[in-house]
Amino acid sequence: MSILGIHTSISGSIRNAVLSAEELGCDCFQMFSRNPRGWCAPALADSEARAFVDERVRTKMCPVVIHDCYLVNLAAENEEIWKKSIQVFRDELARAVMLGADFVVFHPGNPRSLGREKGIERTVAGLEEAARGLRLNGVTILVENTAGMGSALGSDFAEVAEIVRLARQRNLRMGCCLDTQHAFAAGYDIGDKKGLEGTVRYLEKTVGLEDIKVIHTNDSKVPLGGRVDRHEQIGRGKIGREAFKRLVHHPGLRHLPFILETPIDEPGDDLRNLAVMRKLMDGPKVRGKRARRI
Ligand SMILES: [Zn+2]
Ligand SMILES: [Zn+2]
Repeated sequence: MSILGIHTSISGSIRNAVLSAEELGCDCFQMFSRNPRGWCAPALADSEARAFVDERVRTKMCPVVIHDCYLVNLAAENEEIWKKSIQVFRDELARAVMLGADFVVFHPGNPRSLGREKGIERTVAGLEEAARGLRLNGVTILVENTAGMGSALGSDFAEVAEIVRLARQRNLRMGCCLDTQHAFAAGYDIGDKKGLEGTVRYLEKTVGLEDIKVIHTNDSKVPLGGRVDRHEQIGRGKIGREAFKRLVHHPGLRHLPFILETPIDEPGDDLRNLAVMRKLMDGPKVRGKRARRI
């Protein structure tokens, strides 16, 4: 059974994320739990969280994934940024618990001159600090692989695996989120049949396939190894439609939730990308109320 979803908006109210996912015919979805571009966010009211949980139970969306705020840099060299990042990430975890989310996804940060090893240590220390004393009720933290811009961590799956391993030693529930565009931009040739096999073998060797919990399904505006985070609509980028067909049917990956973070350049692009994915996953049939009209 295929599990398909998309990143939906919380504009208006957080429960709208569930309603949008339902309207789009999704099985699961990702959202921000707050403004992703600011350090400060108003507290999440109990009533709002309850309304969200009710809708989620009614619609049986699973999993529910929260993407953390973009400013969080748990590898930050600057003490003030590091502390703020911990505070915001702690708030993300607390919100995830209130909302009954399954996963909180974060990007390993940028340690700049600290270097990779220290950066990884600092990230893990930051995670531990953020979760200290919180009852996480089964919320799992997912480390997302990155495109490899500048000195950011996580473009090599081995670094993602190392963060997961070290954070587990501090008793955190961890896993990994595989982003197809980031992997491709980081130089993993998932656009090619053999390249995908090689990438999956390397994933097995590093993070382990059982630790991948979500696949961010994005085509790429930049070529293989372009090292920039630029998502494209499925089939319109450098990875290509055929490659996504191989990905969604790969025996090691096909059971996973595929969640789109594709750009909406024109109204309806979200529906169109979901329909393309559903077709690749299940054949010509499309699900969902509005999807049938395509
Ligand atoms: Zn992503
Ligand atoms: Zn991205």
